[in-house]
Amino acid sequence: MRTIDVADITAKIREMAIESNYNVDSDYVERLEAAKAHESSPLGLRILNQITENAALASAERVPYCQDTGLSIVFANVGQEVRLTGGSLEDAINEGIRQGYRDGYLRGSVVNDPLRRVNTKDNTPAVIHYRVVPGDRVTLYFAAKGTGSENMSIARMLKPSDGREGVVRTVIDHVFESGGNPCPPILLGIGLGGSIEKAALIAKWSLFRPLGRPSPDPLVAELEKDILDAVNRTGVGPMGMGGNTTCIAVHIETYPCHIGALPICINVECHAHRHAEVEL
Ligand code: SF4
Repeated sequence: MRTIDVADITAKIREMAIESNYNVDSDYVERLEAAKAHESSPLGLRILNQITENAALASAERVPYCQDTGLSIVFANVGQEVRLTGGSLEDAINEGIRQGYRDGYLRGSVVNDPLRRVNTKDNTPAVIHYRVVPGDRVTLYFAAKGTGSENMSIARMLKPSDGREGVVRTVIDHVFESGGNPCPPILLGIGLGGSIEKAALIAKWSLFRPLGRPSPDPLVAELEKDILDAVNRTGVGPMGMGGNTTCIAVHIETYPCHIGALPICINVECHAHRHAEVEL
């Protein structure tokens, strides 16, 4: 049994909260740079230039990439041969968020209750997903999830007969209707199968996949590619101002489901793709 003091987890979460808000995902920026060569709209190209310049400035000046410093999402994969000491894991994660948002001068964007809506001022609590995994390690995944894009996320129960075509149509229609609201160029995390909540969970998890890495299932990888191409033909473009750079990548995760159901969740990620991962 390996022992980990939860104070180490607090320190790692603090660091991830600050660094990911200052340094947007570098793979994302590289893809935006590459997209400039193919962007047909002058306004779209101008916006891509502004986005990449903003990324460089935020990193150099150590300021948040976006004023919306996001809802803190944490996936904690805890090895079953780990013993955590020094307090509760949940408290340790939230303390890391609290310190990171305070010390990094990051906006507190969380309210204590969906109806009372009093700002907690330190971005806590995080939304935390725990998983018990084999081994003696703890892996923490952090995302600062922008709400313009989260608000454009949906879950639907399709009919099995809708099939692949229905999945593609649902995604394309949704991206088109969302327009500039999710701050494109976007990353699409899609959960297919399971139940309504499982589809939502795997859609979120798919956003942590290395950017643009295809699904290991060739059938799903082909669907990812077809959706990406179709989304980029919608003409939504950077920030919804028109153009052919609407989506940077499509990640699809699947799970077995009931014979009578085809759940789908589309979790939309904006160009402020801020995430980090650490293993203890
Ligand atoms: S959706 Fe993303 S890019 Fe748009 S304001 Fe929110 S965090 Fe910033």
